[in-house]
Amino acid sequence: MTKIEKKLEFIQKQIENAKLRTNQMQEVKIIAVTKEVDVTRTEEAITAGLSHLGENRPEGLAKKLEVIHSDVEWHYIGSLQTRKVKQVIAQIDYLHSLDRLSLAEEIEKRSTTIVKCFVQVNVSGEDSKQGLTKEQALQFVKQLQSFTKIEVVGLMTMAPFTEDEQVIRQVFRELKQLQQEVVQLCLPNVPCTELSMGMSNDYEIAVEEGATFVRIGTALVG
Ligand SMILES: *Cc1c(COP(=O)(O)O)cnc(C)c1O
Repeated sequence: MTKIEKKLEFIQKQIENAKLRTNQMQEVKIIAVTKEVDVTRTEEAITAGLSHLGENRPEGLAKKLEVIHSDVEWHYIGSLQTRKVKQVIAQIDYLHSLDRLSLAEEIEKRSTTIVKCFVQVNVSGEDSKQGLTKEQALQFVKQLQSFTKIEVVGLMTMAPFTEDEQVIRQVFRELKQLQQEVVQLCLPNVPCTELSMGMSNDYEIAVEEGATFVRIGTALVG
């Protein structure tokens, strides 16, 4: 067994345990965040069985795509500059950082296919974090109604850097509540069934609170 295979097995076990603890039935997909590792390591991750990969910069994504032609799904998890939309959007399967109307408009203009997007929410309200406030996010998805190239598959957030588990848990819980509010709007291009939350240090808490995608870098491929 390779190192990555061992780590993956451990993480999958932790996820199963977290689900059992809280009676969660959802399928949890692991996104291997490869932004800090090279192509070789990324290929090892694919060999280990990971089929969702995450990058956060156009250059990093391009570099991986030059050599990796495996049938994997690419998740763009970084903030995306409007002028980079054209370059990035055709290459990815999911965008986790939809956070403004200008970005949505550029996608609408440039994309030839429907792009699966997560609206990024700054639940904790920290200045350093990207994303909309909960109130803004609700307004935002309503504004997306007329967009034909955007499908809001879910919400994404990052928890604050803290040791305080309760603070982290509260953030994930609020994202889930917001997701349920969005679902109730019944907007045709906003199914919003997914929750992208949880990283190396807090994915177990995220799963306990209903995550369907966890984004794991250092604990998996680092
Ligand atoms: C880097 C990154 C991750 C992965 O972080 P780790 O702590 O290495 O697991 C997840 N989500 C986003 C948005 C990131 O930028």
